[in-house]
Amino acid sequence: MDLGIAGRWALVCGASKGLGYGCASALAAEGVHLLINARGAVPLEQAATQLRAVGAQWASAAGKNEPKVVAIACDITTPEGREAVWAAGGGPGRDFDIVLTNAGGPPMGDFRGFTADDWQRAVNANMLTPIELIKAVLDGMAARGYGRILNITSSAVKAPIDILALSNGARSGLTGFIAGLARSEIAAHGVTVNNLLPGKFDTDRLNATFEGAAQKTGKPLQDIRRSQAAQIPARRFGTPAEFGALCAFLCSPQAGYINGQNLLLDGGLYPGTF
Ligand code: NAP
Repeated sequence: MDLGIAGRWALVCGASKGLGYGCASALAAEGVHLLINARGAVPLEQAATQLRAVGAQWASAAGKNEPKVVAIACDITTPEGREAVWAAGGGPGRDFDIVLTNAGGPPMGDFRGFTADDWQRAVNANMLTPIELIKAVLDGMAARGYGRILNITSSAVKAPIDILALSNGARSGLTGFIAGLARSEIAAHGVTVNNLLPGKFDTDRLNATFEGAAQKTGKPLQDIRRSQAAQIPARRFGTPAEFGALCAFLCSPQAGYINGQNLLLDGGLYPGTF
């Protein structure tokens, strides 16, 4: 299916690896121009090189010019980082058609151990940063009559996990805000706002949690991976490419009537009917 988004501009945050990279890659494969971001400059440049190759493949098949890939290494959770993104040369300033908000998740642990500063950091990264990004682009999208905002949140928003207190709290705040925003006047101007809720995807972040569990329990890493995967009806972890495929579809005109939704991608792990 041609998603009809070639030539549009997307800002994809946290895109040097993992789910953000999966989304950027799926968009590059549709001929979308990308401004990608992450803190580490070297992995981000490597990701940009791979994404240019994906874009080149699309261009050669479509007989069109290659989509641009601009990489800005910065911490998106800081005002300076966001200013660096907006000011990026070669990109369209704030005139993005697509914005994917994403950054690292907060640390795990017993809530009794978290300080007010821990909560401030989690709320800043996983609630206020997406809101600041959206605030900068939303009215421009509405004025141009097309916009797609996607936020990577977590399955923990739908089925909270006790050791993810910071994530449960901060991301639920974002989810409530998005529910109101998506149904505001911007919906009549071609702008949709949705959340993507990953269950267990095979990324460095998931592997880090397994390594932590292996150290804590003394069990071999492979045993932990196997037993975790066995709890999922699909009997495997998701891939960033599967995640990216839904992202790209939601960015298309075909998905124009999907708005204000929390889309769970978890291989059937969530046990409820809805
Ligand atoms: P990942 O593989 O660790 O990738 C995270 C990406 O975000 C990297 O490119 C990282 O690069 C970048 N990043 C982190 N903090 C950043 C910051 N402050 N500013 C800019 N870029 C930043 O993680 P992932 O598995 O893709 O997870 C993405 C999001 O989904 C996280 O919020 C995670 O909690 C959530 N999630 C993931 C899963 C899963 O199964 N994987 C499940 C539920 C929720 P740098 O470190 O170089 O900045």
